[in-house]
Amino acid sequence: MKDFIPVSKPSFSGNEKKYLTDCIESGWISSAGNYIQKFEEINSDYYGTRHAVSVSNGTVALHIALLTLGIGPGDEVIVPSLTFAASINAVIHCGAVPLLADVDPDSWTIDIERCQQLLSPNTKAIMPVHIYGQPCNMDLVLDFAKKNNLLIIEDCAEAHGARFKGKRIGSFGDISCFSFYGNKIITTGEGGICLTDNSGYAEKMRVLRDHGMNKEKKFWSDYVGYNYRMTNMQAAVGTAQMEKIDSILERRMEIDSYYRSRLENVPFIRLQNDFTDRKRVPWLFSILLDTGKIGMTNEKISGLLLEHNIDSRIFFRDFTQMIPYKKLKHNDLKNSASISAAGLNLPTFLDINKDQIDYICETLLKICGRKYD
Ligand SMILES: *Cc1c(COP(=O)(O)O)cnc(C)c1O
Repeated sequence: MKDFIPVSKPSFSGNEKKYLTDCIESGWISSAGNYIQKFEEINSDYYGTRHAVSVSNGTVALHIALLTLGIGPGDEVIVPSLTFAASINAVIHCGAVPLLADVDPDSWTIDIERCQQLLSPNTKAIMPVHIYGQPCNMDLVLDFAKKNNLLIIEDCAEAHGARFKGKRIGSFGDISCFSFYGNKIITTGEGGICLTDNSGYAEKMRVLRDHGMNKEKKFWSDYVGYNYRMTNMQAAVGTAQMEKIDSILERRMEIDSYYRSRLENVPFIRLQNDFTDRKRVPWLFSILLDTGKIGMTNEKISGLLLEHNIDSRIFFRDFTQMIPYKKLKHNDLKNSASISAAGLNLPTFLDINKDQIDYICETLLKICGRKYD
């Protein structure tokens, strides 16, 4: 049996150590320090937005984005039902109500055409999530939002560098949020950022992340704020990561292509679709298994892979089955329910090699009861 293969692993091959050492040697380890501004600038330059506000993680990025847009009690926000819990939780943290929307069976992203039926006069915003590296159809999102007077918060946590019609995701929403958790495409360990072109929103987010305190008048609170600041150490690591985002994405694409070449003709596996108007980025290599034909759940298959020292992740689960989310309003969630039950993420990290991918594919097919050729 091969050595343990994690589902994800960070890679610090650039200036991460140098910049981090710089923080420690200079003593600038808190949120006051030069790397914060550097990290914010490198992100706003890359995504082409006027402002970037760094925060302590992706969940609080969504939280202050929603608060800044004035989302609160009595308001509703449309969120896709196939997402990580944080997208939904951030809405609830504001005292607002998430409306769960089904996803499109081909892209796995929010199905805008069926969002109409969720709308009420209280619906204030929509949160498209670029799930598993796949951009949402932003033409449809923008059009729907405009017609129905909705604000847009993009959840870009799984799609750093992806594009829709040549334009980077993160540059479409009123505010766009990224996560830099340890397993994300760009990582700072824990971390997040909010991008916007609106200087009023940027200023409000800078105040909210720092206890709601006025930037001119010391210890004067304009809001009941939070401590959602990123540290200079996180920003140092993030700056080094962003410096090499192009090569990170290129390497991930190579891994994606190699997986595809091994799995594309397997009858009980469906791969992620590519669309001519979108440039997907590979986060964790994602497949759908025909669990009916195989005769096992995705959870069972993931468990058996682990017995062969291969870590994997089942897709995000159906929220309507969980106590905290049972009562949320939703449309027919048939696509997200079937994708959740069929999906599996396979190990994807920069220094995974072909031998490991061969071993993963071979083991997966063996578990699913088929000879590998
Ligand atoms: C990771 C993730 C988040 C939350 O980010 P954290 O940094 O872990 O708080 C939000 N939304 C999606 C879709 C994610 O994958």
